[in-house]
Amino acid sequence: MLRETVEKRWRKFSRKAIRTLFYNRLAQKVTGTITHFAGTDAVALTFDDGPHPEYTPRLLDILERHQVRVTFFPVGEFAQKYPELIRRAAANGHAIGNHSWNHAAFPFISGREQREQIRACAHALAPYEQRPYGQRIFRPPYGYQNVASRLNALWLGYQVVAWNVHAEDWFDRDADWMAEQLMQQIRPGSIVLLHDGVFDGLQERFFDRWQTIKAVEMLLERLGGRLRFLTIPELIRESRPQRENWYIPLANDKLKRIRKTLNRMKRPEGEARVYAKYVA
Ligand SMILES: [Zn+2]
Repeated sequence: MLRETVEKRWRKFSRKAIRTLFYNRLAQKVTGTITHFAGTDAVALTFDDGPHPEYTPRLLDILERHQVRVTFFPVGEFAQKYPELIRRAAANGHAIGNHSWNHAAFPFISGREQREQIRACAHALAPYEQRPYGQRIFRPPYGYQNVASRLNALWLGYQVVAWNVHAEDWFDRDADWMAEQLMQQIRPGSIVLLHDGVFDGLQERFFDRWQTIKAVEMLLERLGGRLRFLTIPELIRESRPQRENWYIPLANDKLKRIRKTLNRMKRPEGEARVYAKYVA
């Protein structure tokens, strides 16, 4: 009698576990966010929040000198302002992805606004936006994503690309420290997050991008010959993208904290932003 009950419970439990596992795996495949790649020895450097009239040309010079191709995720508003920089990046073989129109934090805006942000950026980037397998690539501002924004990206035909390596370059870290961090963390298949521009920040001193550019130069001087660098679309085509369910924490106090921080952000011109109007 007891044995029967135990067996029954076990069967029920294992069926549920298998079901959960199956749905999680399925969700990861369909709405997972690419964090890195398997089955490759190459590394992807990615640069967000540009283009910037001073920093981006200097970075393009360095990349050209080292014959390294990377992926840019420009903000639509800046891409529209400096189209010649997007044109130059694309002509040099770099890949161009979508990083929204004006760097809104997607979990805090409506679904309609999320789609408008992606479409407006795509419009500014056309015809340079990449389409591996007919799909475009999108990086959510701040890496903040909820299920609704992930589904909206999917609806518009985008793969979402995050990262698995960074050197906190959105702060005013010095170049030596950042280069060291990158050297220690980079592995085959890594996606590295960097910034050639800055849309907003908490401190004015974080807007300076020279240390990041110097760190990239140091990294390429030290590792350039030994590492193979590919763009995200090339890696999607040539290797196995690894996906995670990558979402902003749902706990209300955490969301409130994030909203408070976002609302303290200022643009380089000193203009304050109101980002986060809505909280679920
Ligand atoms: Zn960004």
